[in-house]
Amino acid sequence: MRKILIVGAGQSGLQLALGLQSQGYEVTLMSNRTADEIRAGRVMSTQCMFDTALQHERDLQINFWESQAPRIEGLGVSVAAPGSHEAPEGSQRAIDWVGKLDGYAQSVDQRVKMAGWMETFAQRGGQLVIHGAAVSDLDFFASRYDLTMVSAGKGELVSMFGRDAGRSPYDAPQRALAVAYVHGLGPRPEHPDYDAVRCNLVPGVGELFVMPTYTTSGRADILFWEGIPGGPLDAFQGVKDPEEHLAVTLELMEKFLPWEYARATKVELTDANGTLAGRYAPTVRNPVGRLPSGGLVLGVADVVVANDPITGQGSNSASKCAASYLASIVERGDQPFDGDWMRTAFERYWTTAQHVTKWTNAMLAPPPEHILNLIGAAGQLQPVADRFANGFNDPSDFENFFYDPEKTNAYLASLTG
Ligand SMILES: Cc1cc2nc3c(=O)[nH]c(=O)nc-3n(C[C@H](O)[C@H](O)[C@H](O)COP(=O)(O)OP(=O)(O)OC[C@H]3O[C@@H](n4cnc5c(N)ncnc54)[C@H](O)[C@@H]3O)c2cc1C
Repeated sequence: MRKILIVGAGQSGLQLALGLQSQGYEVTLMSNRTADEIRAGRVMSTQCMFDTALQHERDLQINFWESQAPRIEGLGVSVAAPGSHEAPEGSQRAIDWVGKLDGYAQSVDQRVKMAGWMETFAQRGGQLVIHGAAVSDLDFFASRYDLTMVSAGKGELVSMFGRDAGRSPYDAPQRALAVAYVHGLGPRPEHPDYDAVRCNLVPGVGELFVMPTYTTSGRADILFWEGIPGGPLDAFQGVKDPEEHLAVTLELMEKFLPWEYARATKVELTDANGTLAGRYAPTVRNPVGRLPSGGLVLGVADVVVANDPITGQGSNSASKCAASYLASIVERGDQPFDGDWMRTAFERYWTTAQHVTKWTNAMLAPPPEHILNLIGAAGQLQPVADRFANGFNDPSDFENFFYDPEKTNAYLASLTG
C-alpha cells in the first residue's frame, strides 16, 4: 500500500491520517507533542465548527464527542452604540439579533480532540513519531514516502512555502487575540433555552466572541477578544498570569460590552492553561514546498491558507482541506504525487477556501455602508439574520448578497417587497 508521511497532528493532519488509515494507506504521523502533553497543555483555539465541517468528521466516524459537546443552534450579532453622556461608551446596543443555524455547530477543545484522535490513530496501528520536525528531517524522510504533507499549522515549517502576495492582502496581524476558557458563565437572557455563538462588535475597537465548548473538565464557555492592534483591547501582551488575563478580559467586557459582562460576574478559569494570547498575519502560501535535495511536499490547511479567526473558520477550513485532499489522494490511485498533482489538489481545495479568505479579510476591514445596513436589517428581518448565521457554515453564499451593494439592496428589497 502507498506510504504517506504527515507532519503535524492538528485538525487537518489527524483527520487526514485517520481518513487515509481507514482506506488502507500506510500512514506515519509526526507530532511535536504526545497526546498527554497536548491534553495537559495550553488551549490553542476556540475551534467552533459548523455543520459541513462536522459532517466530514461524521463521515469518518471520528465525531467521538458529538453527544457531550454543547449544540450551538444560533449565531448572534450585537453592535455597541457609540458613547454619549446619557449612555456611557458601550452601555447600549445599536444592533442585537440572533440567527438560527440550519445544522448545529460545536466546539470541542482541541486538547481533548487532538489527544483523543492521536491515541485512536496509534491504537489502529498507525505509526506515530513524536518529534518536532525540521526541514532537514523532512529532507531525510520524504524520499521514503510516496507523499509527504506538512500540516504543522502556523509553525516554523511554513517557511518552506512562499507567500502568495496576490492572495494575501495583509502583511501584518490585523487583530490581537486573547482567549479565556471559563466555567460559570450565565446564558444570554434573550435565548436562555439554546446556545449560540455571540459576536459582539465594538466599532473601531474590536470584537468579543462568546461561545460554549466542551473542554477537559466538561462544558465551559470561551471569552475571546479580538482587538485592533494598538487599541484599547490590545492589552494582553506581557500578561503571563492566567488570573490577570481573566481580570483584563472582564474589565474590558465591563467597559465595552456590559450586557456580556452582566452574565460573566461569577466566572472562573477552567484551568491554569485555559488562556491564550497572540497575533498573526493572515497569509495564503504556495502549496508546494521544495526540499533542499529536490523532493516536494504538499502544504495543508493553515500552512497554506491561514485566515484571522474573526470569522471562526480555521478549523472548519482544516476539516474541509483534509476532506478535499483525502478525495484527491484516493482518486490518484497508483499514479505519482508529483508537483502538478499537488497544485491541482490545492486548487480544488481553494475553490472552497477562497470564499473563506475573501469574507474573513472583508470582516477585518471597517464595514462599508451597505454591510452596516444589512447587519442592521437583520434585527428586523429574521431571514437576513438566519442567512448571515448560515454563511458561517458556507461562506460562498456571501457572494450572493454581501460584497456588492447592488446585490445587498436587491436581496433586502426582495424581502421587504
Ligand atoms: C485564538 C484562536 C481562535 C480560533 N477560533 C476558531 C474557531 O472558532 N473556529 C475555527 O474554525 N477556527 C478557529 N481558529 C483557527 C483554528 O484553530 C486553526 O485554523 C486550525 O486549528 C488549523 O488546523 P491545522 O491542522 O492547519 O493546524 P493546527 O491545528 O495548528 O495543528 C498543527 C499541529 O502541528 C504541530 N506542529 C507544529 N510544528 C511542528 C513540527 N515542526 N513538527 C511536528 N509537529 C508540529 C502543532 O503542535 C500542532 O499540533 C482559531 C485560532 C485561534 C488562534
